[in-house]
Formats: sequence, C-alpha cells, structure tokens
Amino acid sequence: MAWTQAGNFSLTTVWAIVYGTQRNGFDPFAGNSFGAWHPNGARIGFEQEIIDHVYANAPADNGNPAWYTCRYCNWEYPIARCQIDHVVPWEDYSLTMTTSRPISGALALQVWAGCNDPANLAVACDSCNASKGNRAATAVWVAARVQLANQNHGF
Ligand SMILES: [Zn+2]
Repeated sequence: MAWTQAGNFSLTTVWAIVYGTQRNGFDPFAGNSFGAWHPNGARIGFEQEIIDHVYANAPADNGNPAWYTCRYCNWEYPIARCQIDHVVPWEDYSLTMTTSRPISGALALQVWAGCNDPANLAVACDSCNASKGNRAATAVWVAARVQLANQNHGF
C-alpha cells in the first residue's frame, strides 16, 4: 500500500482495516485533546486491528510459528519480544503536516491515519524499538544494530 503524506489514501486504508465498511464512531484521540495530542503530547495510539494486520502480513519467518524478523537487526524473535514500530516517527510525521497548535480534528485524523498506515509500520524487536526511540532510523544506526545483534546472536 502506498503511504501518502497528505493522509487521504492512508485514511481510507486504516479505516478499512479497523472498521471495514462501518465508518462510524471513530476516535483516534483516545480521550486526548488535540492540543495535548499534537505534536509533543500524548503518544499516538494503535487500534488492535492494525497491529493484527501488520503481524498477519509480516514477512514469513524461517519456520518458528509466531516468530517475526526485526526490520532493523534482522534477527527473529517470539511475538512477545516484538513491537510495532512507526518507521517515520509520529512526531516527525505530524510536523510535516503543521506546527501550529492545536490542530483541527480533520488534520489530526489524517496524521493518525497516515502514521498508522501499514506502509509506515514494521515489526521490530523490543531492543531495537527502545533504541530507536522517537527518531527515524539512519543507515549508521541500522548497521550498528545488525553488528551488535550478530555479535550477541540476537538481543
Ligand atoms: Zn531488532
């Protein structure tokens, strides 16, 4: 799926995953105000349907059921060690849309949906996700994670 900065296509994608054809009652803010939610406030949330979708479409592993390959260190881990990572961090994504606060509900919805488009999500091990934090991955960081994981036979 294409991932668009404008978020309109992503909105359709994410909505379809979460609600199918039932597009009512959608609340991406989980009780947070727009001002608190954007861009340095409460962390953006996932819907369980999106998490399930990412795991269901994750690259095939080498035979261990419910083990997944970390996008960054390239080692496999049981699902309990795996997390869903925003490839482009939601703060960065949000700031590409606007720096004014608070933002409108329509724009906040686009930010939420664009960040949570499966094209912007990846399975990462808990160690890599914690190391990555709220930053975008750089080639130097990825190379260091791969080297460290190979030395330690995974994290
Ligand atoms: Zn990893």
